[in-house]
Amino acid sequence: MDIKFVKADKLKEKPDPSTLGFGKLFTDYMFIMDWTKEEGWKDARIVPFDYIPIHPASTVLHYGSEIFEGLKAYRRADGRVQMFRPIENIRRMNNSAERLCLPQIPEDMALEIYTKFVDLEKDWTPSAEGTSLYLRPFMFGNDESLGVHAVHNATFMIIASPVGSYYKEGINPVKIMIEDEDVRAVRGGTGYAKCGGNYAASNRAGERAEQKGFSQVLWLDGVERKYIEEVGAMNVMFKIGDEIVTPKLTGSILPGITRKSCIEVLKKEGYTVNERLLSVDELEKAMDDGTLVEAWGCGTAAVVSPIGELCYKDKKFTVNGGKIGEITQHLYDTLTGIQWGKVEDTFGWTYMIG
Ligand SMILES: *Cc1c(COP(=O)(O)O)cnc(C)c1O
Repeated sequence: MDIKFVKADKLKEKPDPSTLGFGKLFTDYMFIMDWTKEEGWKDARIVPFDYIPIHPASTVLHYGSEIFEGLKAYRRADGRVQMFRPIENIRRMNNSAERLCLPQIPEDMALEIYTKFVDLEKDWTPSAEGTSLYLRPFMFGNDESLGVHAVHNATFMIIASPVGSYYKEGINPVKIMIEDEDVRAVRGGTGYAKCGGNYAASNRAGERAEQKGFSQVLWLDGVERKYIEEVGAMNVMFKIGDEIVTPKLTGSILPGITRKSCIEVLKKEGYTVNERLLSVDELEKAMDDGTLVEAWGCGTAAVVSPIGELCYKDKKFTVNGGKIGEITQHLYDTLTGIQWGKVEDTFGWTYMIG
């Protein structure tokens, strides 16, 4: 495909990798292309990173038509740069687009865009332990009119941000509060789509949990407030006895690529992994009788995040003595090993740039 390139007058200085945070600093360029109902995708271009003009009546500003993705490019020990399962992000964005009545991008076209953009910006992929280049593809409805309907104009962009290690001070288990008031999503809603609105609606519970000293909330289903769904913006897994359990994808849960990868790694190694309904009562019972041996969240940013404490209706439980569990550590080592090219990728998950 034809991607127009507008060269920057001056390139930015690369940051000191020890100072990298998350998503505050951006690379020299951004990808952008527009879509109209009549013409389809058009004007693909890579331009210097900058503000974008937006019409005050633009759909996204009023009705929240927005979806996004998050994936990373990693610097391998041999210096090459690779992405992790980009095709999964591309497919998920198309599923999100379908739900929000935004246009889809053909898979091969999207992969070509991701690859060309990362190739151009690959020098921004830091090499220090645990660092990576975070890619944020996103799309928004961009009609210049206040009418409420499926959009006729949309914009797709990719921006990239070098990010520091999620675990600068080592992997510390987090404290999680089970939220029984607000819900994140309902079946039939947008829970399975990676759309901005889901985040806007989950901030209140997140704030309240933080004020009480927890780092995230664990969401229950929106109908009965009974079944475990996700933790913050991560999927969640438990080891109860010899069974590894993760909530099944009922429509209100985001189908995480890290979740899928954890399941595939564990199944290949012969573990019993079940995607099923898990009620908070069953979890409470497993905490009481000591059969809950591990709990962890999983997502692209942290890979895995061990849960050291769970609180439900002011009752606190410590999980695995507040320490990271064996399976959690093993998943972390395996997935990060594949991502940074230190462990052989027998799954074919990595996608080399250049
Ligand atoms: C992105 C996201 C996840 C994790 O998905 P990954 O593909 O593993 O990064 C989980 N839950 C929510 C709500 C998310 O937005």
